[in-house]
Amino acid sequence: MLLPSPNNLSGLFPEIDCDKLHEACGVLGIYCTDPQKDAASLVYYGLFSLQHRGQESAGIAAVQPSPGSGGKNEHTIECRRGMGLVGDVFNGEILSQLKSSAALGHVRYSTAGSSSIENAQPFVSHFKLGSIAVAHNGTLTNADVVRELLEDAGVGFTSSSDREVIIHLIAKNDKKGLEKALTDTIKFIKGSYALVVLTGDALVGARDPNGIRPLCLGKIDSGNGEKSGGWVLTSESCAIDAVGGSFVRDIEPGELVIIRENEVFSFTFSEKTRRAVCAFEYVYFARPDSVIDSVDVYGSRVRAGGILGRESAVKADLVIGVPDSGIPAAIGYGRATATPFGLGIVKSKYVGRTFIAPSQIMRERAVSVKYNVIESEVRGKRVVIIDDSIVRGTTSRRLVLILKTAGAREVHIRVCSPPVRFPCYFGIDTPHRKDLISNMNNASELCMSLGADSLAFISVEGLLESLDGDGTYCLGCFTGEYPIPVPGEKPSTP
Ligand code: SF4
Repeated sequence: MLLPSPNNLSGLFPEIDCDKLHEACGVLGIYCTDPQKDAASLVYYGLFSLQHRGQESAGIAAVQPSPGSGGKNEHTIECRRGMGLVGDVFNGEILSQLKSSAALGHVRYSTAGSSSIENAQPFVSHFKLGSIAVAHNGTLTNADVVRELLEDAGVGFTSSSDREVIIHLIAKNDKKGLEKALTDTIKFIKGSYALVVLTGDALVGARDPNGIRPLCLGKIDSGNGEKSGGWVLTSESCAIDAVGGSFVRDIEPGELVIIRENEVFSFTFSEKTRRAVCAFEYVYFARPDSVIDSVDVYGSRVRAGGILGRESAVKADLVIGVPDSGIPAAIGYGRATATPFGLGIVKSKYVGRTFIAPSQIMRERAVSVKYNVIESEVRGKRVVIIDDSIVRGTTSRRLVLILKTAGAREVHIRVCSPPVRFPCYFGIDTPHRKDLISNMNNASELCMSLGADSLAFISVEGLLESLDGDGTYCLGCFTGEYPIPVPGEKPSTP
């Protein structure tokens, strides 16, 4: 049997998660001060806990002694990248080749640049002053302009990714020394970024002046109670836990940190900072065991469910959550409305973002492959189903259908994010405006189209309340007002 060529697979791989927005990337850098520790292995373990942030490619870059340096303490950076999940890309042999005191890892979901090995991260480059590796989460809003300027100056690009723009900017400035080159580059780029850079002797982290994408600092215990055994810079605190470290703090918007030996140096590179963390990190992207900018993700989801219960309760016999991120909100809704909570939907953990569907009928059944109903739990009941978001509506429509087919008497949808009506420009893959079902329909039209008995979304105020603090957030995809100027879009009010 002839298999389709790798370039012609699109019809066979429906996006079964197309009803969700997708996170762009996860970054993880580790700098070990304890010579017994291997940073590359720790990064490998930590990347598993960031896998939810990107499943298209994975990579690890590690500092290695320069061949022929003759013990002069010169370094280079080796990198291994591949398409697929962390567990598919790395094995024991590769990790033993990367053994190192400092390493940088990345998992990717493509937003800017195509899905290909050329765009996988980290990116490594070798300059006169040494080698560097760069890993980035976010989207540069001025990448095209900078790319054009660099191309006019004779720079050749090998990929379509924003990250290569960053590398070439650093290279252009490298006569000033690596640290000055880094700060000058960071001042030049615009958009959302959580950036981690590995050099021969330092690990550097930077967060954009609005802090749209998360980045935090952790410490690895040395075991002797005095000095740290190493440092961690990563997108989410769950990765610090995974490598046996302890959370130290979030990197502030507009902050640059340089980790060298046992010291963490901090600089503010932007005078104009205004925190606008992506609210969707709490709704859906981040893992529930992470804490971002002092707000624990699980707690925010439970609170959102409670607020939904207060704003739009309905008489019901059972509340269930769409796995995984709808479950904490269903617990919160159940507590707030005294509705029994149950597990009415099971999710297959082994279906990736895409799967082979050899026929049209199978493509249409994609959602059923991912979700199934526990019939005995829902039969004859009035069911409230809590989801984190509705983007295109395909999953919600199918879930209503399978719940009703399983005998649910009524199905009421409650959503713990406001309607997604606008695109994201800051590192999140959003469908075209016309494919955002809430942009094209009001709630009652949408309810009818999904076949539900009722439908309600949390309000913007309710979402902010669930984040439980005096923090300020990006709400662009709900309100159409953005914290960074976007041509043709409204700015958010300070
Ligand atoms: S527009 Fe803002 S809130 Fe929406 S996904 Fe993008 S960064 Fe997050």
